[in-house]
Amino acid sequence: MAFEAFDKVALIGLGLIGSSLSHVMRRNKLAKTISGHARTAETRDRAMELGLADTMHEHAADAVRDADLVILCVPIGACGAVAESISSSLKPGAIVTDVGSVKSAVIRLVAPHVPDNVHFIPGHPIAGTEYSGPDSGFASLFENRWCILTPLPGADDGEVARLTAFWQACGSNVDMMEANHHDRVLSITSHLPQLIAFNIVTTAADLEEVTQQEVIKYSAGGFRDFTRLAASDPTMWRDVYLNNKQAVLELLGRFSEDLSALQRAIRWGDGDMLFDTFTRARGIRQRIIEAGQDTEEPDFGRGGQHVDPASPGEGGNEGS
Ligand code: NAP
Repeated sequence: MAFEAFDKVALIGLGLIGSSLSHVMRRNKLAKTISGHARTAETRDRAMELGLADTMHEHAADAVRDADLVILCVPIGACGAVAESISSSLKPGAIVTDVGSVKSAVIRLVAPHVPDNVHFIPGHPIAGTEYSGPDSGFASLFENRWCILTPLPGADDGEVARLTAFWQACGSNVDMMEANHHDRVLSITSHLPQLIAFNIVTTAADLEEVTQQEVIKYSAGGFRDFTRLAASDPTMWRDVYLNNKQAVLELLGRFSEDLSALQRAIRWGDGDMLFDTFTRARGIRQRIIEAGQDTEEPDFGRGGQHVDPASPGEGGNEGS
């Protein structure tokens, strides 16, 4: 479906995802007007300075008035209260979507507040970095990344097609999924790896027999990649685990069993088991590169110590 610019888009939340959406909408002329809301005056002022919105509003309800597309770009735990506060100001026929990293919980929190004459179509761009706030966004964040939409049963096909065309115009590929399935898939590809990163980094920091200075000095031995993930926003990740509890706990059980099997192989010198496991894992990496979701460059394309915020890898995540 060819994309026709929205007259007015409201961005509720102007952190990494909200500000990146603003940049790509400006660059690709996807909205005639952008209105915005953020919780603090500091972020609202900064968003105006950066030109992320044409108008910034203290109350989300004022930002969504007359908007044809409303995108909730706030932490998952804030979605319910925000949805309630905008409910009576939404334009009939508007689309409300979100970018939250968990979908079933967002549906549970938001759907009850969406009037019948408004189209609620949940979404999740699988794109992110470990940075947050209004200065962290950039127009190419969504390029060649997947955006997963999880329309509710009975969703209007035409409106789903319109939102699909919007994400495609942002540079993304779009997939449809049932919300629970999305949450299970993301628990494996994003939520568990992120939890492991948080855990490894804090374990290393607590070790007594190796100094913190040594941990930092020799970090290129794999640890550094975990620290990048672990630098991601604590509020966002707290909300992910509180809201995707079941899928993450199920997966952790399975993960612990597999880890115990590796532990046993190391203890008993089972080199064949280790070699076979690592060979399988290496093949999966190759498939990710072939799918265009990472680069084949050595050291993940970093070229030394400097990480360019405008061309990060898949950060926390998805980014999540
Ligand atoms: P972020 O950079 O921390 O920005 C969050 C924004 O939400 C800020 O503008 C913040 O305003 C605002 N906000 C926070 N609490 C609010 C509240 N109660 N009411 C109104 N506004 C509030 O976060 P982000 O990385 O863009 O993440 C936003 C959403 O995208 C999350 O749901 C996350 O799951 C999802 N997501 C993130 C990534 C990723 O890698 N970061 C990837 C895909 C999806 P203030 O600055 O004024 O506090």
